[in-house]
Amino acid sequence: MDKKNLNDCFAHDGAMLTHEQALEKLTTGLVAITGTRSVALDDAVGEVLAKPVLAPRNIPAHTNSAVDGYGFCFADYDAQAGTTFPVTGMMAAGSPLEGIALPQSAIRIFTGAAVPDGFETVVMQEDVELVSTEDGEQVKIPAGLKRGANVRLAGEDVHEGATVLPPNRRLSPQDLAAIASTGTLGVECFRPLKVAIFSTGDEVIRPGTPFEHGKVYDSNAAMLRGLVVKAGALCDDLGVLPDDAQLIETALSKAAQAYDVLLTSGGVSVGELDFVLEALNKLGSLHLWKIAIKPGRPMSFGQINNCMMLGLPGNPVAAFLCFLLYAQPVLTILSGQKWQAPLRYKIRAGFSMSKKTGRREFLRGVLEYSEDGSLLVNKYARDGSGLISSLTQADGFIELGEYVVEIKHGELVDFIPFGSFGL
Ligand code: AMP
Ligand code: MG
Repeated sequence: MDKKNLNDCFAHDGAMLTHEQALEKLTTGLVAITGTRSVALDDAVGEVLAKPVLAPRNIPAHTNSAVDGYGFCFADYDAQAGTTFPVTGMMAAGSPLEGIALPQSAIRIFTGAAVPDGFETVVMQEDVELVSTEDGEQVKIPAGLKRGANVRLAGEDVHEGATVLPPNRRLSPQDLAAIASTGTLGVECFRPLKVAIFSTGDEVIRPGTPFEHGKVYDSNAAMLRGLVVKAGALCDDLGVLPDDAQLIETALSKAAQAYDVLLTSGGVSVGELDFVLEALNKLGSLHLWKIAIKPGRPMSFGQINNCMMLGLPGNPVAAFLCFLLYAQPVLTILSGQKWQAPLRYKIRAGFSMSKKTGRREFLRGVLEYSEDGSLLVNKYARDGSGLISSLTQADGFIELGEYVVEIKHGELVDFIPFGSFGL
């Protein structure tokens, strides 16, 4: 008889999809929603840009001084010996020239003021000596300045007509600075995705209600809502679905008409009470449901008309991980962004362990400094995928590939900080 380890619920991984296969199936052919609208610059952080932002003129528009100092024509200056010029004018930032800017003279100039034609070099005020004479003020400029010193050239940031920001990016506060520098007030962005979340299970009750024996408070709803909102989508929490095939079918089919994406947690394993799968099979199509990762499986992916459905596992740790690994790429692409694998870093393991081949494991990782000051990642002391406390104490996931069978203390491992997922 074929010996199976009955204590290992991952013993049947052979027929599953790998992580990469699952991700490819999920993301191939997925396209952004079509609607766009103009968003005011002030409200645009976190929005997804639908059209490029171009520079209508050079940025900066004028060659201007980078310092407070004195501007002069380099041709009039003796770079070996230095030169003394009369000060004949003044340029403050944003104001026209006061006085005159003639050859063989210098002008007082302040940071950000446009340099007059020909006055292409500026000396810092700290480096000059001022001399008062009967004919007015003179400035003694030391030797050694180069042509164009201390000025910022027109267009050195962005040339007229060039792309300031390409489309399909989620706008950061820095991006808003770049858009503002073009003078644009409204930017064309994708309408936000509409996501609904459901929890499932007769044992799941909502925080704020009295505790009952045998029940568990719904941790997934608040967590998933937070994850969806952080991903830039609108999110409605549609409550807990009981373990009842008909009620689940009715709720999913109604929600599918109003939302772009439905996210459920729980109820997708092969146990008797797993009706989400059944409902989804009736209403639309089911794309996959078993992935060779730990923790995580099972997970389903389906479609009801134009609405995508992702069925996450019920265990909060697995739901969290599967959201980040699979739901986040889907939401990213649907919302109009390009998806890129989260940044991972090689960090020395502060632990050793052996691992089963054939599945990818994501350990909760805790960063710490060793005595010599180098960074180590430790695995969270306990393993269970119901341990919500592990998520609040971890700094990210340690990712161990399918073929890894052993980790030795001090070896480099892949670490994905939660920050790589935008958390
Ligand atoms: P399931 O995938 O429905 O079999 O659930 C797996 C485990 O996760 C069970 O112990 C559930 O009680 C638990 N679980 C399911 N949904 C939630 C939830 N929303 N919050 C907390 N635990 C949950
Ligand atoms: Mg359940």
